[in-house]
Order: sequence, then C-alpha cells, then structure tokens
Amino acid sequence: MSIKCDVLVVGGGPAGLSAALFLSNKSFSTIVLEKSKTCGPKHTKYDITEGNRIREIIDEIGINTNKTSSRSEWLSPNYSHIIESEIEDFYFKRGPGEDSLENVLLKKLNNKADVFFKAKVNFIELKKKEIATVKVNKDSKKIEIKPRYVIVADGPESEFRKRLNIDTENFAKFNGFGVLIESCQSDVIPHAKIYLDEKIAPGGYIYSGSVGKEIFFCLMTDDKFTKNESLKQRLNFFLERNTKEKFTVKNYFGGIGISGIQEVLLGNTLFIGGAALFYDPFLGYGLNYAIESAYFAANAIKKNDLSIYTEYANRIQKEFKDIFFAREIWRKANNNFFDKLIRAFNGEYDNSDEKINKILDLFNEN
Ligand SMILES: Cc1cc2nc3c(=O)[nH]c(=O)nc-3n(C[C@H](O)[C@H](O)[C@H](O)COP(=O)(O)OP(=O)(O)OC[C@H]3O[C@@H](n4cnc5c(N)ncnc54)[C@H](O)[C@@H]3O)c2cc1C
Repeated sequence: MSIKCDVLVVGGGPAGLSAALFLSNKSFSTIVLEKSKTCGPKHTKYDITEGNRIREIIDEIGINTNKTSSRSEWLSPNYSHIIESEIEDFYFKRGPGEDSLENVLLKKLNNKADVFFKAKVNFIELKKKEIATVKVNKDSKKIEIKPRYVIVADGPESEFRKRLNIDTENFAKFNGFGVLIESCQSDVIPHAKIYLDEKIAPGGYIYSGSVGKEIFFCLMTDDKFTKNESLKQRLNFFLERNTKEKFTVKNYFGGIGISGIQEVLLGNTLFIGGAALFYDPFLGYGLNYAIESAYFAANAIKKNDLSIYTEYANRIQKEFKDIFFAREIWRKANNNFFDKLIRAFNGEYDNSDEKINKILDLFNEN
C-alpha cells in the first residue's frame, strides 16, 4: 500500500499527538505512527509542569488540566520554604486512562488524522536531503508513506535520530522513578512539594503532588550518579521516612529524560518534544516543551516557513545553555548547599554566594 500525506508524525506521545491535532485542524492530511498498541506511558498517572508557557496553547486546542496550583514547598533536610509563584503548575493525567492527555488528544483527532498503532519504521528514503519515503511494517502489512513533511516525536531515545545519524550534545540525563499511592486523607499534600536530599536524589530532587486522594512521588536523579542503582529502593526509603500515615501503593512508574542540544530541522523533517531533547536541564520538565514545540512546528508547516521553528528551537536551546550552568552546580550540591539555598529563599542569607545566586536567578520570574 502506498499513501501520500501532507505530514507524517512519528510517535504518539503528547508532542506528536498535539502536532497532529494542530495540523489536522487546519485540513493538513496527517498520519501518526505509534510503535505501541496505545499512546502514552503505561504506568505514569500524572505529570506536573509549568503552565505559563502553554496556557494559551492548551486553551486553543481545548485540553483541560486536572488542577492548577501556584504554590510549591521546597524542603531541604533542615529547612522549608513556600514559593508562591505567578507561574502556575498544571497537573496533566497521563497514561491509559480515558481522560489522560494522550486519550483526550486521540479523541479530538478522531476522523481527522490516521493513527497507525503497532507501526514500525523499517526504511527511510532520502532524496536531496529530504525524506521522500518512509516504509512501515504494521501487523503483517507493509505501508509506504510519501510525506511532504515529517515530524519526529518518538521521545528522548529517538530511533529516528539514530537512523539519521544526528549528533547530540547531551548535557543531562535524568532517571525518573515514581510511585502513585492512595491515601486515606485527601489533603495530605495540598500543593507540590520538592524535597532536596543529596543522598536519596543526587543531582536531582523528589517531587510530590496530590490530586484528590491520589498522591504521586517521583524521584529525579542525575544518571551520572544512579546508573546501576535501584531507584525503587531509594524511593521506598524516602517514603518510609517521609510519610507518616498508611497508604496503598497503586503502581510504580519510571523512565528517562535527556536534555541536550541537537539539530532539530533537516530538510523537510522537524524534531519536537523529547526527540528534540527538549527537557529543562534543571528540573527535567518536558511536557510543557513537548506541547509548545508541537505548536511551533505545526505553525511553521502551516505557514510553509520552517524558519519559524528554527527560531523557536534556537531560543529554547539558548535558554537551556544558560540553565545548564545551574545544572552543573546542582550536580555537585550537597545537603549543606540545599540548607543554604532554602535559607536564602527565606531571606536568611546574605546572598553573597555566587552558586546560590545562580540558582536563585532561575526562580526570578522577571
Ligand atoms: C518518570 C518520568 C517522570 C516525568 N515527569 C514529568 C513531569 O512531572 N513534568 C514534566 O513536564 N515532564 C515530566 N517528564 C517528561 C515528560 O514525560 C516528557 O517530556 C514528555 O512525555 C515528552 O513527550 P513526547 O511526546 O516528546 O515523548 P514521549 O512521551 O516519550 O512519547 C514518544 C512516543 O513515541 C512512541 N515511539 C517511540 N519510538 C517510536 C518509533 N520508533 N516509532 C513509532 N513510535 C515510537 C512511544 O511509544 C511514545 O508513545 C517525566 C519523564 C519521566 C520519564
């Protein structure tokens, strides 16, 4: 079977599905390839992400977030501080649930784009540095797709990136491991909490949030420090120390994120979301960038002006390069540093330490 389309999207995560929706809403014939039977992570139930940069975009496509919060409590081993922020945190449901971000996007795409599940790319034909044909195996069928544009959204370990031999400068690789628990109380943690502890989450942090009676905890560590270690053990240890009441574990989830710099535009091919390594080098957030980059890539295609996308990507990559300095400080941070930082948040510090100032700058919303 051979099909022509305006846009071929590889990967049915938040980035790929958002891009497909933006484009199919504007009558671009769109095909999405997803290697699995379903879209989205199998076990993750919630992601919390900065809302300020995507508020208007998600309004435009009509996605509801589950909850917004403008408070987060930061805790070092000895101090705590509540940040009241203008930047709202959004909670998105993820995974197989009917009202997850992926499934809401899929429903909106219904009849507007073709989504091929269990689809595996087995050959890419390049002509004059542009992708001319993508050959796909789906079940026992072989499909040949001839797209005008290709959007690559197959996540941080992008197979497409490897096939096209794209060099990357990987600045930070995060290991994420989380747990969803059900609590007897509904308001145990009424807002996001960020716990800092060099021993449990080296080069990272532990965050938690509550949605109704469900509470999620996620441990983000720097891959350099926890490559072969059991993150489950670390998280269990943390939970034993920090949760006083009884709870039921609903599930564990995990994965990796990579923040770095790479080419995001090659001929007619645009990399977005995790496949473009768009993960905040400091916090490891990537959902906001996944949706935002999908929006800019779709706009560039709609206007037939791909420089719109390279300008966006250059801006993000410059932002990341600046944040990477803070990341290097974080990698070496110990509990003494975290205590100093939280005291500085509380105004109990003379702010003469350059490293503390660098981190404080990240939280300066102006
Ligand atoms: C444990 C963990 C916790 C996280 N928590 C947060 C958080 O709280 N807040 C936040 O903002 N971000 C968080 N992130 C990051 C966030 O999940 C990602 O930024 C986001 O999912 C990226 O979306 P994406 O669509 O680019 O890629 P993905 O979500 O990775 O989706 C890629 C899709 O492509 C499919 N695919 C892969 N290869 C192929 C292929 N060859 N062919 C076809 N399809 C393919 C995959 O099956 C998947 O459906 C977390 C990440 C992890 C691992």
